[in-house]
Amino acid sequence: MRVSPSVRAIQVPDENPMHPDFTDIYLVGNGQVLTIDSGEAMDRYRWMIRGYLAATEHAEVSLAAITHHHSDHSGNLKWARDVLKADILVPQNGVKLLKGRLPATGVQTVREGQVLDLGGGARLQVLVTPGHSVDSVCYYLEEEGVLFTGDTLLGSSTTTVWELGPYRRTLARLLELPNLKVICPGHGKLVNDPRERLQMYVNHRNMREQQILGVLEGGGAFTSWDIMLQLYPDIDKRLRRAADNNVRAHLTQLASEGRLALYPGKPRKQNPAKVARDVEHAKQRDAVIRQGKKEEAAKLRAEVRAQENPPSGEWIDPPRYELTGTAKDALP
Ligand SMILES: [Zn+2]
Repeated sequence: MRVSPSVRAIQVPDENPMHPDFTDIYLVGNGQVLTIDSGEAMDRYRWMIRGYLAATEHAEVSLAAITHHHSDHSGNLKWARDVLKADILVPQNGVKLLKGRLPATGVQTVREGQVLDLGGGARLQVLVTPGHSVDSVCYYLEEEGVLFTGDTLLGSSTTTVWELGPYRRTLARLLELPNLKVICPGHGKLVNDPRERLQMYVNHRNMREQQILGVLEGGGAFTSWDIMLQLYPDIDKRLRRAADNNVRAHLTQLASEGRLALYPGKPRKQNPAKVARDVEHAKQRDAVIRQGKKEEAAKLRAEVRAQENPPSGEWIDPPRYELTGTAKDALP
């Protein structure tokens, strides 16, 4: 799918409930082609990239870049090196986190402000944009107004945040980009109203922070759980932990900015023997579940196979049927 004169999108259908719709891989440039993200280490992604290249591309991929180290973005870098012969571009902070997923040769790091000149006027800027992960970067093709955000901003859902302070600064920075027309996210549809969407994310976080400060203004020291219960009194109980994490991310940011006093609390001492027992128990349970699934699949296969043959287990000699005498006489 063509996004702009220098950009194509490959949208790969995805079953991960965290990524509604699909996972996106982008091709940038007409002279030198650069890919942005590579999908999970599964055949499906490689087939889609290869199929797209075979069907519509004349140039070969010479550079394979990623937006951050998470495995659904960096799963096929070795393959890109071995099969496509591409040079690999990764964020500096990501190198250590990419253990086992990088090829032995041809790896370069990208840095803030770097411009990747792909020929034909396609100049891709590297923006270091931590927040979703410690090593998140965005790529910006200013001439065409196309921003590649990875998981910093998604097409159809909100994203998870590693650290909120840097994330909010990243959003503010992206809002300042000149000529921004479309966001190409790591998952989901293209975002054709990029400023509105970025502003929505910013507003949402600001509102949540105001609400938290509102609870604290009454005085007293609260746990994140206390605050969560006040902010989300009717939330589905199964989502309380997630909401608590959200509140805690804000509290961490406010404390790091010196706006809140933090009493560190006292962790419960873990009994190492009990921890080891729990781990062992979980292992055994997983083994039973795996075995159960295997048995179930075997049973289904046996049931299907049984349909193909007569039930010989039930009969030494099965009943037979023949026309009676009168009926025989009635035959024409
Ligand atoms: Zn991610």
